[in-house]
Amino acid sequence: MPRIEAVRGDITTETVDAIVNAANNSLLGGGGVDGAIHRAGGPRILASCRVLRATSLPDGLPTGDAVATTAGDLAAQWVIHTVGPVHSRSEDRTAQLVSCYRRSLEVADEVGARSLAFPAISAGVYGWPMDDAARVAVSTVTETDTAVESVRFVLFSDEALAAFQQWL
Ligand code: ADP
Repeated sequence: MPRIEAVRGDITTETVDAIVNAANNSLLGGGGVDGAIHRAGGPRILASCRVLRATSLPDGLPTGDAVATTAGDLAAQWVIHTVGPVHSRSEDRTAQLVSCYRRSLEVADEVGARSLAFPAISAGVYGWPMDDAARVAVSTVTETDTAVESVRFVLFSDEALAAFQQWL
């Protein structure tokens, strides 16, 4: 099991091997943490996403899956893009959110990343209640078999930090 901690901060400034991005299916940029990562990391990240769209992912990245690109100008070596589910009150999409964390750890293992920073996937524009998003994130990372040694949850608000700390 990796060492796990939660901090308040801006994930784009983390010095870890890989930063996880809460992307959308298109991989071609969005708001929230996705916009911040592309702004801070420069155009090479988007160029790398466009190559994926032109080759292995013509229909985009499925919800719950993850893929690595360069991290461009960021201190990290890779950005691991994952697509969280939009929260629904009529359908339980927890399995897709679990899959985001699992697949991100698998991709980290594939590229050889040993330290990872995650945002609160789906807990922004996609509407997942922060407390439950934190529960799923912490329990999944705790239960997934991985060679990743260090996982930092980098949260953008005191409320989000408190939610994650409660489950740690
Ligand atoms: P989603 O579409 O998966 O909900 P968002 O980017 O809208 O993704 O939000 C996910 C979480 O990331 C939210 O809690 C949001 O406040 C947070 N966030 C936004 N910008 C940053 C950042 N620069 N660093 C860390 N977390 C961020």
